[in-house]
Amino acid sequence: MTQAPGNKRHDVVVVGGGLVGASLAIALDRIGLDVGLVEAAPAGALPAVFDERNLSFADATVNALEALGVMAKLRAPTGAIVRIHISRRGDFGRACLAAADYGREAFGQVVVARDFGEALEARLGELQRLTRYRPARFIGLGEGDEATRVIRIAGDEGERELYARLLVAADGTGSGVRHALGIEADRHDYLQTLFVARLRAARAPDGTAYERLGDHGPTALLPRGDRHFGLVHGVARDEAAAVQALDDAAFLERIQRAFGWRVGRFESIGARSVYPAIRTVARSTIAPRAVLVGNAAQTLHPIGAQGFNLGLRDALTLAELIEARGGGQSVDPGDAGLLAEHAQRRGEDRARTLAMSDGLARLTANDAPLLRPLRSLGLFALDRVPSAQALLVGGAMGYRGQVPALCRKAS
Ligand SMILES: Cc1cc2nc3c(=O)[nH]c(=O)nc-3n(C[C@H](O)[C@H](O)[C@H](O)COP(=O)(O)OP(=O)(O)OC[C@H]3O[C@@H](n4cnc5c(N)ncnc54)[C@H](O)[C@@H]3O)c2cc1C
Repeated sequence: MTQAPGNKRHDVVVVGGGLVGASLAIALDRIGLDVGLVEAAPAGALPAVFDERNLSFADATVNALEALGVMAKLRAPTGAIVRIHISRRGDFGRACLAAADYGREAFGQVVVARDFGEALEARLGELQRLTRYRPARFIGLGEGDEATRVIRIAGDEGERELYARLLVAADGTGSGVRHALGIEADRHDYLQTLFVARLRAARAPDGTAYERLGDHGPTALLPRGDRHFGLVHGVARDEAAAVQALDDAAFLERIQRAFGWRVGRFESIGARSVYPAIRTVARSTIAPRAVLVGNAAQTLHPIGAQGFNLGLRDALTLAELIEARGGGQSVDPGDAGLLAEHAQRRGEDRARTLAMSDGLARLTANDAPLLRPLRSLGLFALDRVPSAQALLVGGAMGYRGQVPALCRKAS
């Protein structure tokens, strides 16, 4: 294709410089590709998604981010998860899993999204080949040919076109790229709202991540690296406005009732952010010379803390398939066979992680007293049956399906 002046050509254009898009840009640069990264947020400001949410990074994610040089850029201490404690309010069953039982020091690490954003930004700043377009919004697709995708973007300097052999949609849940490609998505609203905040309790975190399932949503406490817990509290959507209106003391009382006294009295709480719990799943993850990754491909209920972990594996699998064909600029990253292999390889991990998050979310929705004994039995079994535990733990640590090599610790 001939190229108009001012327009640029790349091997890969990634739309969306959030958690997954930025990680992918680093992974593709590592194998010698020329990448254009399009992000709506301006230079000098982190995209809004790098907020105060607490991200639980699975072991596989930590390994990969170490290999990509991102973990070393984190300035704040991370919180190691060495135990996972799951219980349900009003039921007798509970499950307690310890990393040491699996020969591991930790199941994963808790990182605040804002800190992660700063670390990614520092690492992106070191890349020599990467071109960043920001602030720039994806506004549509242009007329391409068999070898080229044409991507239309608008920024401070007006509109321009980018040419790429592969277009990656990493533009999140409401993906405009997905829409422009004509890929439909199925949406399910859990009718829950999640409150996220930093919380201080009488007892400091000891490495235990607590997941307490309630009738209308989960209450989770993640051990942060700064003496605080990361709180996630789910409430029925029609209660959300009233809960948001509570002052801090009343909000803490509510959390204490929902969670109990396992870490003593709750002492103080930071600013609350609010998220609706909605699952969005694209019906296909590939199109000619295009692939969807991260939230653009699937947005999960946050209860299982798997969204980014899963999205990173989408990204790393793509980089791995390109590298396996030789990497660098001699490979066609948008080759139809490569994309079909990506969709096939991501299938199992995607389906099982979605099922796991959905199952956990449904455990907390619509209390049905008749199901209580069964639910208790489920948690009871989890606590006693090693094979059930191993399955959950393997998935939670990010080792599900065919795992990208970067997720395995270099020995
Ligand atoms: C409360 C909460 C807690 C969570 N906890 C965890 C956890 O513990 N562990 C975990 O693994 N996951 C967790 N997640 C999920 C995780 O946040 C998401 O999976 C992750 O943000 C997905 O990353 P992404 O890059 O695909 O999309 P996003 O992070 O949403 O990034 C999309 C990017 O695209 C940009 N963009 C959008 N449209 C355009 C456009 N038209 N042009 C240019 N740029 C555009 C946006 O500015 C943004 O930067 C949690 C989510 C929530 C809500």
